Amino acid sequence: MTEGEPAASIPTNRWDSEPSKREEAKGFIPGKQYQSPFLQLKLHGPPMTSNLKQVWFPGPLIVGAGPSGIATAACLKERGVPYLILEKETCFAPSWKLRTYERLKLHLPKQYCELPLMAFPPEFPTYPTKQQFISYLDAYVERFAIKPLFGMAVRVAEYDPSVRFWRVEAGDLEFICRWLIVATGENAEVVWPEIRGISRFRGQLLHTSCYMKGDDHRGEKVLVVGSGNSGMEVALDLCDNDAKVSMVVRDKATLLVLLNSFKFRLWQLHILPRELLGISTFGLSMALLKWLPVKAVDALLLFGTRLLLGDTEKYGIKRPAIGPLELKSAAGKTPVLDIGTFAKIKSGQIKVVPDINQFTSRGAEFADGEHEEFDSIILATGYKSNVTSWLKCHILTAASPWTSPSNAKKQIGTFFMQTYESHVKGFGLADTFACGKEEEFFGEKDGFPRTSFPNSWRGKNGLYAAGFTRRGLLGASMDACKIAEDIANLWSRRYQA
Ligand SMILES: Cc1cc2nc3c(=O)[nH]c(=O)nc-3n(C[C@H](O)[C@H](O)[C@H](O)COP(=O)(O)OP(=O)(O)OC[C@H]3O[C@@H](n4cnc5c(N)ncnc54)[C@H](O)[C@@H]3O)c2cc1C
Repeated sequence: MTEGEPAASIPTNRWDSEPSKREEAKGFIPGKQYQSPFLQLKLHGPPMTSNLKQVWFPGPLIVGAGPSGIATAACLKERGVPYLILEKETCFAPSWKLRTYERLKLHLPKQYCELPLMAFPPEFPTYPTKQQFISYLDAYVERFAIKPLFGMAVRVAEYDPSVRFWRVEAGDLEFICRWLIVATGENAEVVWPEIRGISRFRGQLLHTSCYMKGDDHRGEKVLVVGSGNSGMEVALDLCDNDAKVSMVVRDKATLLVLLNSFKFRLWQLHILPRELLGISTFGLSMALLKWLPVKAVDALLLFGTRLLLGDTEKYGIKRPAIGPLELKSAAGKTPVLDIGTFAKIKSGQIKVVPDINQFTSRGAEFADGEHEEFDSIILATGYKSNVTSWLKCHILTAASPWTSPSNAKKQIGTFFMQTYESHVKGFGLADTFACGKEEEFFGEKDGFPRTSFPNSWRGKNGLYAAGFTRRGLLGASMDACKIAEDIANLWSRRYQA
């Protein structure tokens, strides 16, 4: 394997063969310059969990093979940096392949959803379907020969300051690497709301991640809980398939956000038409923001929306006190881009209902005291990051046998240390490592980087985040380019010197 080649998909049992033979086969010569991106080490220092085999990988390790992970991999490959991707599922982009409904189309025009280095085929429509997007992703991984290790859920990753490397546990391996790229997504886990009586409901209860098509609910009475882009589209899909749909627009009037030192009252939902004057609302906003302040763009968007959709409040959908773009940048709340659901609300085919007090065995009781029976309840309550469940934040303590470089040297043996030291020299670690405190990068509560866009992609100690900008695929692509450039600079300092 040469530099720049992607990490091959390696069945774990290959690590069981004799280490010296294997390294020889891959061209690794101890004491010489780097030859192979893979190296299983005979470390004497304990892995984070015993009985794990330790594998040193000199390039960046990417966690997650969704759009963000594969985009970063492609950019690294383009710059000649070997990488390794660990993916917990058995396919690329499982959130698209396994957890999205059939009628899903990209919410934004295709030019804002392309990954770096490869355009969508010209015949794709402005809003590609889910199947088209998946076929694009398949072509992308083929073109860049991206081969993750599948079925490798990262259980723990932590930075070891004594050797200045990351230790990442997955399967029966502990990977040791210099750079860790978190690409596990903003939507790694479903949000299951805490609503009284939820376990009492005897009908079908499912999250949108398990919803496939409206036809499965034909003729049913269905309650959709949540009114983001997914909730709105699922409600429309159900309605188009002759289900009787009610939708909860949860009233968050009490939610407060601190913005420019003032407290604003927020209502829950900004609904905008997907297109204004035949131009995508998203594209129009991007263009206007180049010339006008955000408040002025918001005012124009709301004026256009009022002309096209009318007064949404009349139909139970109140607008937040601040505009859609200002709200997005202050609280990360994405406006809903309407693709026809609002017309169904106006015509009474979709009923907007208030927040739920409690579920009952046959339906739901609402905040206004009304009770209604339903066959199915679909929770369009969103997703959350899972980073805090596996990225460990503590710095190793004095009890750790790896607490000082000299101790580490004793513990891990000369073979690893030769290679490790050449890395330390080559990368000028004193300059590039700010030791400790990587826990400050990801917030404990939401598992998102604490620093906001455009500075959310790089932490300390070789830690990076791809796809946590709250700006969809466009943000993921921007992260991928910046991360690859940053790592490639460090990489070339070492290997092209
Ligand atoms: C229904 C829906 C529609 C969307 N439509 C658009 C759109 O039109 N335009 C747009 O720009 N954005 C859209 N988005 C938002 C966003 O672009 C997508 O969610 C996109 O898939 C994000 O890519 P990602 O790689 O960051 O995350 P994901 O696609 O979620 O990929 C993360 C990967 O990490 C893996 N993983 C998680 N934890 C671990 C672990 N511990 N170990 C190993 N692997 C792990 C997961 O299995 C997954 O493969 C949409 C989102 C949803 C939910």
